[in-house]
Amino acid sequence: MSYPDLYLLIDGQRLGAEGRRTVPVINPATEEVLGQLPLATAADLDRALEAAQRSWPVWRALGPQQRGRILRKASDLLRERADAIAAIATREEGKPLPEARMELMMSADIIEWYAEEGRRAYGRVLPQRIPGMRMTVVKEPVGPVAAFAPWNFPLGNPARKLGSPLAAGCSVILKPAEESPASALAIAQALVDAGVPAGVLNVVFGVPADVSQQLISSPIIRGVHFTGSIPVGKQLTAMAAAGMKRTTMELGGHAPVLVFDDVDVDAVLDLAATSKFRNAGQVCVSPTRFYVHEGIYEKFAQGFAARAKSWPVGNGLEAGIKMGPLAHARRRPAVAALIDEAITKGARKLAGGEALPGKGYFYAPTILADVPDSARIMNEEPFGPVAVLQPFRDFDEVVKQANRLPFGLAAYAFTNNAKRVNLLGEQIESGMLGINSFMIAMPEAPFGGVKESGHGSEEGIEGLDACLVTKFITES
Ligand code: NAD
Repeated sequence: MSYPDLYLLIDGQRLGAEGRRTVPVINPATEEVLGQLPLATAADLDRALEAAQRSWPVWRALGPQQRGRILRKASDLLRERADAIAAIATREEGKPLPEARMELMMSADIIEWYAEEGRRAYGRVLPQRIPGMRMTVVKEPVGPVAAFAPWNFPLGNPARKLGSPLAAGCSVILKPAEESPASALAIAQALVDAGVPAGVLNVVFGVPADVSQQLISSPIIRGVHFTGSIPVGKQLTAMAAAGMKRTTMELGGHAPVLVFDDVDVDAVLDLAATSKFRNAGQVCVSPTRFYVHEGIYEKFAQGFAARAKSWPVGNGLEAGIKMGPLAHARRRPAVAALIDEAITKGARKLAGGEALPGKGYFYAPTILADVPDSARIMNEEPFGPVAVLQPFRDFDEVVKQANRLPFGLAAYAFTNNAKRVNLLGEQIESGMLGINSFMIAMPEAPFGGVKESGHGSEEGIEGLDACLVTKFITES
């Protein structure tokens, strides 16, 4: 199976390795080198900035209808190319092929949804104060956006980062993850093939800290959108603040799952295992801290462990595999360190807890019970295939535990008690709350966190709003 050539997309041109430093792209399931990725020089980034500045008025002037037609065509092209693109994403990131295909379909949906929503960037007319006066509020594109997308959703993250600014009439410089470049380029290429003009959409790769520094400090960039870890999000927010730039920060979480004793335990476990081991747990909304009512705790823990032990792990290109490797070499020691430390602090290992032998960055699905709050894994996002369990007795105590951390991205609860559901809706501190469901991400719904999990939302009308500024015009 061939792997595509890698390039920088700047001002409509594909720029290859010529004279540029390159880094290898590695298949995490086999450790084979897939290709060499050229890294942008400072001059390349200046060129991308100049192109984004020059092309922005042209794109803006096309209007939302014409922009929407182009975005819709791109979503059709993505669906036509689904099989080829999904195979690239699996080889770069490791997730099973059906998961990559679903992600591609969702990426097409995101772009299509923004194709439609762009034409609803309404302003309003205010009641006049004086006869003959007119007071209007209009929404305008914020301007060139710098967007940074991580590797865990190699297709979905770039689609989110491109859909809303392009629909709003902004130009974009996207820096996807260096670990999964061909996936991001496939999304960008569909948009270019659909008619996004040269310079409006630029894709660069490089040393992340150097690229973000150069782009965010440029006066050309007016908006900064980042998905990634909390420490990096804080750095980029501080850099953007120096230029008073609009930011959307979609950072980490540590999702609590509250399981009450009125549920069908096996049905919840089936959902929980599927959600936990999706993308080997490398998901910012992955369910991680399971607080289970003491009456069903042991049954739940043993049932989770049984599912973990029989979960099919392997190369995501093979049929029947439900979990691939961790996405890159750095992740395995990071996950292992958290698990080992929890065991030394008294956590009970019920499944996994070890790297799998052979090639590839595989780590076994892991279940830890009775994990104390003092363990690092109870306080730091593990971003791996591990669930940590604690029993609880009463409602107030478990809500306090769920809200204990300085993060608040996703939270989940399983119960059939309607009053409890309402109280959870009021009391849980998170940007998203799934009740009897782990499905919380879809194009029409806002996706984002509270507390240190970030600010602003991607997707939904909120995602479009993040790319717009408000202007008040008064006439008399
Ligand atoms: P990392 O911090 O090296 O990188 C995370 C992402 O941020 C990568 O895409 C990277 O390219 C980017 N990045 C890093 N420094 C940057 C900078 N100065 N400017 C711009 N972009 C920068 O870590 P990693 O080993 O790849 O992942 C570790 C942690 O990152 C995970 O434990 C998780 O908490 C977080 N993460 C979160 C998400 C998410 O969806 N919120 C996705 C990927 C990683």
